[in-house]
Amino acid sequence: MNDHAQGIDATPGPKPFEALWFSDGNVILATDTYLFKVHKSMLSSQSSVFRDMFDLPLVGDSQGPSEGDRGIVPETYDGLPLVKLADEKGEELAYLLRAVYERQFYHRDDARTPLKVVTSLLVLSTKYDFEHIRKDVIFQISKHYPMTLDEYCAIDDDKSQLFGMDRKDCHFPLLGAAFTAQVEPLLPILYYAASHFYAGDIFQAFTSGTIAMECCKTLFNGRESLQSSTNLSVASMRESLAQIRSLNKDKACQTQGCTLDVPDDHQTPFSSFLNTSDQKYVGGQQIIKSFFPQLCSNCFSECAKYAESERSLTWAWIPMAFAHSKWEDIHKELEELLSEDV
Ligand SMILES: [Zn+2]
Repeated sequence: MNDHAQGIDATPGPKPFEALWFSDGNVILATDTYLFKVHKSMLSSQSSVFRDMFDLPLVGDSQGPSEGDRGIVPETYDGLPLVKLADEKGEELAYLLRAVYERQFYHRDDARTPLKVVTSLLVLSTKYDFEHIRKDVIFQISKHYPMTLDEYCAIDDDKSQLFGMDRKDCHFPLLGAAFTAQVEPLLPILYYAASHFYAGDIFQAFTSGTIAMECCKTLFNGRESLQSSTNLSVASMRESLAQIRSLNKDKACQTQGCTLDVPDDHQTPFSSFLNTSDQKYVGGQQIIKSFFPQLCSNCFSECAKYAESERSLTWAWIPMAFAHSKWEDIHKELEELLSEDV
């Protein structure tokens, strides 16, 4: 098969990709590394971009190369029209084509799908308008990044695995892919997930090309906003609770020793609750237990409830922090996107 490759511009470049080299294929797709002998009708039936591309009169014409990286040049290979997709990495296009041809290749319910496959399918299915594949990938990602506080906290474990790696290592690549593919309803929760990293890690994700500059900017802004919101709520917790207790004087707690005061030798671990955007570390019970060890159990529950309501407010703020609208709108948007007939 390597002999075929020598026919391409006499360069040692792209080689036929064996699993996608069909003897009765009627078009050759060329990337930087691989050649694919596939069927126009198969691609046209699923992708409007390929459909339009194959409709172009330029195929097989001899009027010289067309403009643009996705243009069709009047070149042939083994007597078949050759379409150069110079922008694409061969491996990534192979994922897309395998998802088109092989029923077993991609399942939206398989959490072991390699991350690279997930991100490549999302970006390329969007670019070439393979709507079924795009919907499946968006559905799959949304299942692993739920939008409610309880569901998210239940799933968000730094040690858990997702897409063949540590879950936390998926956040930046998924954010970058969702940003590129403009999947708006996935962005706020992915921004949120990525906001727990240090500034240096975020900057690194940008310099390595994993996330775009605009995406990086929105991430930094939202991260700062969430950290401020959390800091404010934690720093004013004592004052707020004292105020609530003084307003309810008639129902004041009668339990001996129940107070918001802390013993002299009590170390309040303030720092562990500050400068974080990660809401799993600022649960109501965690905060009240650490800050106010002298509350009776009733008052503890009441205060924890208040602290929890503060956390819910911060959670509600997340999409706005990342320049989106409310969770309910985003939810609706996602549902519509997934239910659209394609
Ligand atoms: Zn009490």
